[in-house]
Amino acid sequence: MAIDSALSSPLGPPAYEKDAKALQFIEEMTRNAGSVQERVLAEILTQNSQTEYLGRFELNGATDRETFKSKLPVITYEDLQPEIQRIANGDRSPILSAHPISEFLTSSGTSAGERKLMPTIKEELDRRQLLYSLLMPVMNLFVPGLDKGRGLYFLFVKSETRTPGGLLARPVLTSYYKSDHFKTRPYDPYNVYTSPNEAILCPDSFQSMYSQMLCGLLERHQVLRVGAVFASGLLRAIRFLQLNWEQLAQDIETGSLNKKITDPSLRECMAKILKANPELAKFVRQECSQDSWEGIITRIWPNTKYLDVIVTGAMAQYIPTLDYYSGGLPLACTMYASSECYFGLNLNPMCKPSDVSYTIMPNMAYFEFLTHEPNSAGFTCDSPPKLVDLVDLEVGKEYELVITTYAGLCRYRVGDILRVTGFHNSAPQFHFVRRKNVLLSIDSDKTDEAELQKAVANASQLLREFNTSVVEYTSYADSKTIPGHYVIYWELLVKDSANSPSDEVLKQCCLTMEESLNSVYRQGRVADNSIGPLEIRVVKSGTFEELMDYAISRGASINQYKVPRCVKFTPIMELLDSRVVSSHFSPALPHWTPERRR
Ligand code: AMP
Repeated sequence: MAIDSALSSPLGPPAYEKDAKALQFIEEMTRNAGSVQERVLAEILTQNSQTEYLGRFELNGATDRETFKSKLPVITYEDLQPEIQRIANGDRSPILSAHPISEFLTSSGTSAGERKLMPTIKEELDRRQLLYSLLMPVMNLFVPGLDKGRGLYFLFVKSETRTPGGLLARPVLTSYYKSDHFKTRPYDPYNVYTSPNEAILCPDSFQSMYSQMLCGLLERHQVLRVGAVFASGLLRAIRFLQLNWEQLAQDIETGSLNKKITDPSLRECMAKILKANPELAKFVRQECSQDSWEGIITRIWPNTKYLDVIVTGAMAQYIPTLDYYSGGLPLACTMYASSECYFGLNLNPMCKPSDVSYTIMPNMAYFEFLTHEPNSAGFTCDSPPKLVDLVDLEVGKEYELVITTYAGLCRYRVGDILRVTGFHNSAPQFHFVRRKNVLLSIDSDKTDEAELQKAVANASQLLREFNTSVVEYTSYADSKTIPGHYVIYWELLVKDSANSPSDEVLKQCCLTMEESLNSVYRQGRVADNSIGPLEIRVVKSGTFEELMDYAISRGASINQYKVPRCVKFTPIMELLDSRVVSSHFSPALPHWTPERRR
């Protein structure tokens, strides 16, 4: 194919002519990152100049960076809570944004145990769509021939609610999949999914997963890439296959759909796709009944070139398991996004997970960066933070991301810590280091130290009548089980050994802890089945002293030693596990409903 050489870019000449525009856009944005950022800030401040929020800071029409930085405070979600509550309660005046708030996006980050509500406006959908439209042109540079088959992607919608004032509140991906942008997307031969929209949009997670898996099996030779948003989602799909392959094989053998699929539009759609194929059914049975599931992904989908899942940040824990199931297929992390704002993409998506760097696209929002001192607690009013602009960052340094969005978040701390690894043109590229204050995470749940402390305190109330208390505890996110689960190590002080708490009581302690954890955790347990039952492992008395001895032998200061509330280091976990005297699992699901508790 003839491609105009003027369109070639440092990303490499477009693999296909249709990709030239997207690659050129990336080049333009990254080459002019400074001026694009200046323009974006001016646009946001002009658009929102009459809002109540900006009005408070007397910008007097100024849209330049210096005035903005000198007048607006850096804030967190909690600072905005009163405004967000008013919008949720139905106040339609321009509080944060001049454009009407179209809905709330429910973040997996929580505040007081409930998902944060992120106000958004209609035009943000276009911005998200734009970022999505850049992903395949970049991927096509690295993986040829993706138009010769399909992608098996496990994509889901989650439940939605309405705020007291009537606005929808739902996760950003649910909002996107339900939008016309997604539902009526133009046909792109390089980006065809095996899952029909009806399967993705089915609100029942079993029916949705079942039909998506069935379509994937039916088209197994067509599948060129397998993916989900996060690594945990893809592993959940593999687990689903382990549990349901017999029924799936039966459907394929007979050509008649499992009766548990009751959604009429899904049944109608699947009727057109499902045809009896006894040979394929035999193959599925043969592969899935083997004792070992090593390499199952490439056995079932032999033409898979890569897995498309995010394995950066907390998801890195799943890399060994994905390697096991896929025989070490490349793992592509394509984008970095949040409910607040979609940030950017990976311009080298076939690199090793440890080398992944995301390039923030300067047109998405106005970005600032708070220098992150790895061991400092934060900043005080006496020492106002120094925020650095996108183009002024230094390679090798760590920063916390602060955003100003078209939807009305101003100098808002996202909570992500990023390290600059280099530049693409004048746009920096980032290694995702971690999210602040996250102790435990299995899926999209994020449990912090205070939440864990509260959960332990609530559960240990049940031990009172046994004259028993929790002397020390720590935790661990066990991602070897599928789904993964939280493990809490407890050292108990049992004062009356004749009346020590039974297995039944300790199981109830597990459930009480689960009840105390935030709604994203409980939704993962109840609705998504993405988190397994919480486990308490009781360790011998004296174990935590041994833990301290071990830390001190490795150089920790005796005076400053604190029990780590989460452990990841293998020798420490081996020490803990070797001292376990009993283990107890939560016997039931905690409560969860889509409605917010407050
Ligand atoms: P949410 O607001 O629930 O959509 O979660 C957004 C958060 O997920 C981000 O702020 C990050 O902490 C995390 N996240 C999103 N994309 C990535 C990625 N590619 N790598 C690592 N973490 C990510």
